[in-house]
Amino acid sequence: NRQILLKSRPVGWPTLDNFEVATVDIPKPANGEVLVKVIYMSVDPYMRGRMSDAKSYAEPFAVGEPCQAGVVGKVMESNNGKFPEGTYLMGMGIWGNYFVTDGTGFQPIDASIAPLHYYLGILGMPGMTAYVGLTAIANLKEGDQLFVSAASGAVGQVVGQIGKNMGCHVAGSAGTDDKVAYLKDELGFDAAFNYKKGDIYKSVKTANPKGIDVYFENVGGPILEAVLNNINDKARIALCGMIADYNATVDNLPVGPRNLTALVKCSVKMQGFIVFNYLKECQDWIPLGAKWLKEGKLKYRVSVAENIENAPQAFLDVLAGKNFGKQVVKLADE
Ligand code: NDP
Repeated sequence: NRQILLKSRPVGWPTLDNFEVATVDIPKPANGEVLVKVIYMSVDPYMRGRMSDAKSYAEPFAVGEPCQAGVVGKVMESNNGKFPEGTYLMGMGIWGNYFVTDGTGFQPIDASIAPLHYYLGILGMPGMTAYVGLTAIANLKEGDQLFVSAASGAVGQVVGQIGKNMGCHVAGSAGTDDKVAYLKDELGFDAAFNYKKGDIYKSVKTANPKGIDVYFENVGGPILEAVLNNINDKARIALCGMIADYNATVDNLPVGPRNLTALVKCSVKMQGFIVFNYLKECQDWIPLGAKWLKEGKLKYRVSVAENIENAPQAFLDVLAGKNFGKQVVKLADE
């Protein structure tokens, strides 16, 4: 039973040296607890925040302790009637092969609906995030002009497809030509561009010829400024994440958009959100996402790393944009 521990807190970009692999005994479940074998572990950008001890919505990881992460696993031994042996479940576990839990915050999952790792992606937290941001925050409506950044990622690809299923014009940005081709050719985006090439102001304008009614913000940095330059009256901006800023230091502070006055001129609503403050919408998403998957109205791309020791590198890759779709780590066969 191996675990990935946080060895030290990074300043700026994290490295492999911030992590260490530990070998520990398989724990025994006490009364009311279950032993979970982890099948897939999630790798998510927000984990960067938890490596620091700065104030945030989620507790920092403790140095010398396993990194916590979303997992999908199987109950191997049960002393808890809610989760009998053999139950597949999802919830917040650890980067480790086995752990025990009393089941708080875990939810049984139906392994017949979709591949198990979808519960860390399209049918899990990232899919819920897309749905919450578009419904509870941005009030997306049929015919809206929707733009999403990090559009081929875990959250972004769901955002764009929900938009298409709701009859919107959908445009997205991503960091490689392959990702852009995937958005246009596979997911049916109306327009997409590589934000690392050319002039971002021009690219945003060309991709959104009728302006932007809803912007789903995943990255921060210069794209937000270009969006504000093309924003429509009464637009809504769902601030989901700002990954371009996650490795900033005091000597290297991010520069915000210089044109926030557009919010006033166009009566724009810009609101940040944390997915798990919207539990109703999260639970609404699972059956809707499963239905759309069954009907062929959603696709989902996943990058699968193998073996627990590769989790830290997979995490660094997500911060650097080397993942293509939702990044997970596979530890065991289903
Ligand atoms: P992704 O699968 O989209 O992976 C992150 C992607 O961000 C990379 O692949 C890369 O894609 C892009 N990226 C990295 N650095 C930059 C940069 N400097 N500028 C522009 N793009 C960059 O991750 P998720 O879908 O899991 O998360 C997307 C965002 O949503 C993150 O900001 C995350 O923190 C946030 N989030 C927020 C939640 C909430 O409750 N508010 C919940 C879940 C996620 P590319 O090659 O296109 O650059």
